[in-house]
Amino acid sequence: MNSWEFENFLKKICSYYGKKDGNDKSRNNLHFNKISFIPGGQVLDSIFEQITNEYEYFPRNLPKAIKNHWGVWQSANPEKMKKESSGLHSGCSFCLKGWIHFVIYSKMLRIPYRHVSVCGHCRANEHTNLPVHTVDQVSRMGGEIY
Ligand SMILES: [Zn+2]
Repeated sequence: MNSWEFENFLKKICSYYGKKDGNDKSRNNLHFNKISFIPGGQVLDSIFEQITNEYEYFPRNLPKAIKNHWGVWQSANPEKMKKESSGLHSGCSFCLKGWIHFVIYSKMLRIPYRHVSVCGHCRANEHTNLPVHTVDQVSRMGGEIY
């Protein structure tokens, strides 16, 4: 997921549990670094559903709760995971096997964030729930491809 997806998730979950202090930047940043490898989009929505169904209170260790539920999602959706890893693809000059890897430097947090998007040119990994971006879109977001 990317940093703004995580921010939205945080806002949503804090408001669900009536928690007011969801804006400690350094804590959010530490949390984000632990779980940024997990896809956003529908996966994150489903993690939100699972957490709010299961926890009476705001999870004490939010990244751990998110990771646990990512594991639950993976075992509940084996066919999506299989497709994601087989990513057979060739011939696109914009990406690496259908993935665009890039870094966005967060001025606010002074930390580079790594992101992965589905290549918007060949769309080889479109079936996953990751965001789809072209090289142009990435650079408009301030991302640097690596
Ligand atoms: Zn491509």
